[in-house]
Amino acid sequence: MDRAAAQSPAIPLRGVRAVLFDVGNTLSHLDYGFLAERIRRFAPGVTPDGVGRADALVRRYGWEPGPGAPVRRTGFFPAYVGAICEWAGLSETAGLQVAAAAEWEHRARPSGLWNRVDPEAAAVLGALAERGVRLGVVSNADGRVEDQLRLFGLREHFEVVVDSDRAGVAKPDPRIFHLALAQMGLPPDEAVYVGDIMDVDVDGAERAGMRGVLYDRWSVWTDTGTPRVTRLGHLVGILGTRDGADHPLTGTARPGRERTRCLKRAAASRLVLRQRRNERQSTAFVRRSG
Ligand SMILES: [Mg+2]
Repeated sequence: MDRAAAQSPAIPLRGVRAVLFDVGNTLSHLDYGFLAERIRRFAPGVTPDGVGRADALVRRYGWEPGPGAPVRRTGFFPAYVGAICEWAGLSETAGLQVAAAAEWEHRARPSGLWNRVDPEAAAVLGALAERGVRLGVVSNADGRVEDQLRLFGLREHFEVVVDSDRAGVAKPDPRIFHLALAQMGLPPDEAVYVGDIMDVDVDGAERAGMRGVLYDRWSVWTDTGTPRVTRLGHLVGILGTRDGADHPLTGTARPGRERTRCLKRAAASRLVLRQRRNERQSTAFVRRSG
């Protein structure tokens, strides 16, 4: 088990009957190779991993529509890619060019640009199903997510797939989580939601009465009290066993006071990092190899 899993606060998982997943940057990741190739035309040396780190910074500090954001997110994708480019050190003009190319590619490919299936996704889904855990998907998407899951070879794992564009409601609105749970005939407290963005995925799921786990692939949420994994495969380790016995890591949920402290720290960090985004520190993080 990695350090993140070992340090993750305990999760009381006894009685969990279902795990619901986000898709973008959880079950399948952005094509960082494509973006790096485009970004290198303006900023030589940027690697796919560097783009991945920039993406992680955007998700933590720089971008994601909050509650009340429109469900049909016209312009979301280019704006999101533009923010990644900005964190990768590109000028706004260069970022717009990369974003336009990415938007075209995203629309042209049936799989979209979040098309790099997590290497541990199939194994984790299989292992959870083996334990008798029911599986579902709740995704802020553009109406294509079910077809994309078929392309990825993952659709068969899920009882329910809810796409915000088709549902008419998007995360973090609790109603989209409740929609999936209603289709599964489950109360919220018997389900866990796994996603890569704190506000949208973890907070949204918790407001819906579920338990949230953050998939922190690039370890940018190390200072929060949220249950998190840095590899999808570690989910299996933090869930209860088939016979109902909890894993040794399980215990109590994070206290409210700790959560408030985390939110304040995150807000302060966001301000500081925004000021530094063109400075050396963030550039070094993005360009670090390995
Ligand atoms: Mg996501």
